[in-house]
Amino acid sequence: MEITVVQSAGFCFGVKRAVDSVYALSDSRDGIVILGELIHNRYVTDDLKKRGVDTVEDVCDCASGTVLVIRAHGVGREVLSRAQKRAGEVVDLTCPYVAKIHNIVAQHSACDYDIVIVGDKTHPEVIGIEGWCQAGAHVISAPQEAQSLVLDKVCMVAQTTANKNNFDNLVKIVKNNCQEVIVFDTICKSTKIRQAEAEDISKKVDVMFVVGGKGSSNTKKLFDICAKNCPQTFHIENFEDIPQNINYKNKKIGITAGASTPSGSIKEVVRTMEENINSHGVQEMSFEEAMEQSFKTLNTGDVVNGIVVEVRPTEVIVDLGFKSDGIIPASELSDDPEVKPSNIVKPGDEIQVFVVGVNDAEGKTLLSKKKLDYIAGWKKIEEAVENKAVLSGKVIQVVGGGMIVLVEGTRVFVPASQASDRYTEDLTVFLNNTVELRITEINPRRKRVTGSVKSVLSDQKKAISEKFWAEAEVGRKYTGTVKSIMPFGTFVDIGGVDGLVHISELSWSRIKHPSEVLSVGDTVEVYIKDIDAETKKISLGYKKAEDNPWAMAQEKFNVGDIVKCKVVRFMPFGAFVELMPGVDGLIHISQIANKRVGKPSDELSIGEEIEAKITEINWENKRISLSKRALLPVEENQAESQQIMEEISAEAQGEQPAAETEPAADEQPSEQTPQGNDGVGDTEENQSDGE
Ligand code: SF4
Repeated sequence: MEITVVQSAGFCFGVKRAVDSVYALSDSRDGIVILGELIHNRYVTDDLKKRGVDTVEDVCDCASGTVLVIRAHGVGREVLSRAQKRAGEVVDLTCPYVAKIHNIVAQHSACDYDIVIVGDKTHPEVIGIEGWCQAGAHVISAPQEAQSLVLDKVCMVAQTTANKNNFDNLVKIVKNNCQEVIVFDTICKSTKIRQAEAEDISKKVDVMFVVGGKGSSNTKKLFDICAKNCPQTFHIENFEDIPQNINYKNKKIGITAGASTPSGSIKEVVRTMEENINSHGVQEMSFEEAMEQSFKTLNTGDVVNGIVVEVRPTEVIVDLGFKSDGIIPASELSDDPEVKPSNIVKPGDEIQVFVVGVNDAEGKTLLSKKKLDYIAGWKKIEEAVENKAVLSGKVIQVVGGGMIVLVEGTRVFVPASQASDRYTEDLTVFLNNTVELRITEINPRRKRVTGSVKSVLSDQKKAISEKFWAEAEVGRKYTGTVKSIMPFGTFVDIGGVDGLVHISELSWSRIKHPSEVLSVGDTVEVYIKDIDAETKKISLGYKKAEDNPWAMAQEKFNVGDIVKCKVVRFMPFGAFVELMPGVDGLIHISQIANKRVGKPSDELSIGEEIEAKITEINWENKRISLSKRALLPVEENQAESQQIMEEISAEAQGEQPAAETEPAADEQPSEQTPQGNDGVGDTEENQSDGE
């Protein structure tokens, strides 16, 4: 003789949560009413009634000001809204798994999907789900109903207690008939386990009892499953329903129960079975033994699955299907001090945990998630060392000599020298950043791991550089960022590689320092002027041809024009005047006045605006000669003046033998850019610094 009670028998997470909450509420509050039966179990319903908790069938039936409880089945959007308006307070105990279905159908029906629910159309949970669909739903439970659906866009969900095989079968049919079908298998895991265990045990026993309310849909489904495998299957609500006319001698007896069956009801059934067996003279199995079998036992070091029941600021409560709930302290969730429990889990989540300790006396089971993360992460880290894989993690702490990066739940030490590809004095700048790194060393015995961010960055830089040099060519344009400014020019990052824009390339006008044009961090459009692939030096162009003032001047000025200009500087042989920004011309000393002039400053002053006549233009060499004298009246003693001027001219030629009216090449502006080099010249040495 053998009695087996399946492990999953009894309250599921959602029902337990609802029942516990209502009992706790009834301890401290009056005027509690539940919208519909809390669970399909008359013993619980009767007991709650004794505690002053009533049940109403409709929101209208509850007096205003009452505490109205929504049970685990949930309700539709409209009912919830009416409840909130009518009751003094609404306590919504909709099971998180059911609430998830509400969200799915609300979102998809808003996107014009036809909602198909596999379930019992009269069941409160299904009615509640329908109440979140914008245009109702198709509720099906049989193949013929599925066959009749011919729709364009379908979103399919299941009642949480639906039969898995039936659901899969109906999905196939709907997929055949409809164009686009999105399927959400919303059958609750607790239901799946319960059904699987019922299926399994009913194949091994001679008599099967399914304990649960007659109105309980999931109990009925359990009965259907068991009855297929075991002809002697009985759906009983309590011990009183146990058939007396059966000889249980030498029989294997299986017991399962619906999600809303209290453990007390299961115990009573087991006890009655014992008595029955005794009365038949069969060696009994002790009640305690049978009940112990019905509960899981936990040991330190076990890895078990559970469902998150509650998330508190400092801990998480997990339903393990054990006698009492388990607790994960925040410090056992993650090593990241910035992360709160609510960032990691939420009520209803299925979670795998490590049993750190079982304290039966206090009824506490201490759990850890971080340990399992660490174990799983360690495997990945060992693999990563072997194949030199790149991992990513969050910088959680700066310690002496480096920083700690949390990688796959494992603390990885990164020495300061390996924290970046550049020297960084203050590593706190990396705190809370996600970084990529390579594991460089592990010590399995001491569980120590060392990594390098620098290694990854260097590889990335190398790859970028190789790609750059493969594509680089003179004339190619880039959008770059100014990285540094030196007196001779600026270094610009053009995608992982730096190039130099020489000062002469920054402006068509005369500038004294690159900072007059650019600042560090500026985004600039540049092009390659010159490449030295061997030395890896790049000269960049910045000035645009269309902004060349000499090109504009060519359009504007002609020989013979009388122009307004400004005296900008003196030389012994004449005065330079600015015709327009970036374009200067020369008034030779002989052309400043109609008399002998000792030095230009005798007749002119810097900044003075004067009129002069253009006497000669050499566009090729960017030289413009002007005369102020040509605009002055002819003196009476012209012959004498002429002689004087010729003498002056002769003197000037003596000083400037190369050209009568032009300064030496190093004085005359070859372009109106006194730095007129090509960007490579005197800065090549410096350029290597930035590459
Ligand atoms: S069977 Fe699943 S979905 Fe339904 S109340 Fe229980 S835990 Fe929630």
